Amino acid sequence: MNKIQSVRGMNDLLPDQSPRWQRVESVVAGILARYGYEEMRFPLLESTALFSRCIGEVTDIVEKEMYSFEDRNGDSLTLRPEGTAGCVRAAIQGGLLDRPQRLWYQGPMFRHERPQKGRLRQFHQFGVETFGMEGPDVDAELLAISAAIWRELGLASSVRLQINSLGSAEGRRQHRQQLVEYFSQHADQLDDDSRRRLHTNPLRILDSKNPALQELIGSAPRLADFLDEEARTHFAGLCELLDGLGIEYQVNPRLVRGLDYYSKTVFEWVTDDLGAQGTVCGGGRYDALVAQLGGPETTACGFGLGIERLILLVETINPGFFADLPQVDVYLLGVPQATVHNMQLADRIRRELPALRVVCHCGGGSFKSQFKRADRSGAIWALVCGETELASHQWGVKDLRGETEQRSLDEAEIIALLRSR
Ligand code: ATP
Ligand code: MG
Repeated sequence: MNKIQSVRGMNDLLPDQSPRWQRVESVVAGILARYGYEEMRFPLLESTALFSRCIGEVTDIVEKEMYSFEDRNGDSLTLRPEGTAGCVRAAIQGGLLDRPQRLWYQGPMFRHERPQKGRLRQFHQFGVETFGMEGPDVDAELLAISAAIWRELGLASSVRLQINSLGSAEGRRQHRQQLVEYFSQHADQLDDDSRRRLHTNPLRILDSKNPALQELIGSAPRLADFLDEEARTHFAGLCELLDGLGIEYQVNPRLVRGLDYYSKTVFEWVTDDLGAQGTVCGGGRYDALVAQLGGPETTACGFGLGIERLILLVETINPGFFADLPQVDVYLLGVPQATVHNMQLADRIRRELPALRVVCHCGGGSFKSQFKRADRSGAIWALVCGETELASHQWGVKDLRGETEQRSLDEAEIIALLRSR
């Protein structure tokens, strides 16, 4: 029979990778906890309408990247392509938005894109969202959190911050009008994608990566010239805070982000060390979204961080971060009559020395094959209970990574020995 393979662009995480993920996840979760952020968990499946209303009908995600299907009741459901929509829905539904909130989540997201290095169809994100704080203080706090993540993962020299302001809805409307006029005058130079966006989402043309369009885009009307007083003050305030915190940034007037819900602050952390998939983290302010989804008028700001790209970057820039990943420390083996005896000692070691990983051999076999398994497990110590040891309540203790001879020790001596290492 031919083997069933995983769905294209959806990867398995095997045991050689998962400790790396755990280490990175614990760093990020630790930083978020220290900043007072609380974890949210919400479903992978939501009503399709949530995403089309939230992300925007004419964005890449909603137009062509969503995994949507009808369930058995005929309801249209979608595997979440990003987390903000579900987080906002859950925060409204859970009645969280009558006070400021600092929230985070993590987990898989699904987008039907062309798989390549750093771009998958099931990928993982950390999402961080704040509600009920107008900023720019909390905008700066979010950037400080991301900077702390780079610092702790040893990536600070590889990533740089780009920021921009998208201003208010009214400023964007005026800018949009001028953009449509400008690009219409040069319609012959546009590619198919951009021509299609001209009347649906002209701002996205500015985001085009097509080299042939760069000159045209470079002379297009700039959103910066349409910022109102409030957006200007907000942006200046953010820049001042970042200066004060020593967080370096570059203002990129062409940074618009691919989702419709942003206003005022937008930002991306980019790197040159991952090839084409250079954006590790992106986010911004989305003050209108909560009300748009039926919640109370609530300002909001957040970011998403791609975990695959983050791990690729650590592997490239700071591989030492993954040295000394936890492995088995102690492997118990022996004759079949010693099984209970071994399991009891293993449990005592686990209770008294919880940092150690202790494996009891299962499945029988000769001493030779048991020792082979002990060695392959990576264990440092083998504890062997043969018939003689069983009779004398002892174990043969063998240092699998050293030169020392096997010796016989009782339970208390073994605990003392392991403790001393
Ligand atoms: P890109 O421009 O690379 O497509 P994006 O703007 O679509 O990114 P966001 O929706 O802002 O990305 O998601 C936040 C982060 O999630 C990205 O910065 C990236 O690190 C990660 N990400 C997005 N799409 C994918 C994907 N298909 N595979 C892996 N990581 C992804
Ligand atoms: Mg994308």
